[in-house]
Amino acid sequence: MTETQNSTQWWDNGIQFECQGSGRCCTSHGEFGFVYVNLTDRKRLARFHKLTTSSFTKKYCEKRSGIWHIKERRDNPDCLFLSGKKCGVYLARPTQCRTWPFWPEVMEAKAWKKEVVSFCPGVGHGKIHSAKEIKKTLQEQIDSETELLQER
Ligand code: SF4
Repeated sequence: MTETQNSTQWWDNGIQFECQGSGRCCTSHGEFGFVYVNLTDRKRLARFHKLTTSSFTKKYCEKRSGIWHIKERRDNPDCLFLSGKKCGVYLARPTQCRTWPFWPEVMEAKAWKKEVVSFCPGVGHGKIHSAKEIKKTLQEQIDSETELLQER
């Protein structure tokens, strides 16, 4: 059983977080560098760009190990859709961008400190996300990852 399934979590009283628009999670940062896009994400992004899903996928996406992600440029590893410090596709942004920082792989206390607190200026700002909200977001991210894997 993973920590996120246990009844007692270090985040049972909620977590204060609000995106500060730093764009840091949109610039390449190693392990979490890829912006993955499942079919639902690609459909939404295609509509935003007024393209068919296949045209959007051809133009903006590539596959690694059978999993779709937004293309990376050789000369600039930042997200293709980052415009200055802002997301250029904010209303249609991929699931992983919506669910950050409530990702299963960082919800263990040590990982949270290392991968989120030390990196993302949104922690400790804005609204407190309740445990119920966090669980819902975690599930959304898990479902998105499942969809990515099912496409392989
Ligand atoms: S799609 Fe937008 S929010 Fe997601 S990484 Fe790219 S610029 Fe950032």
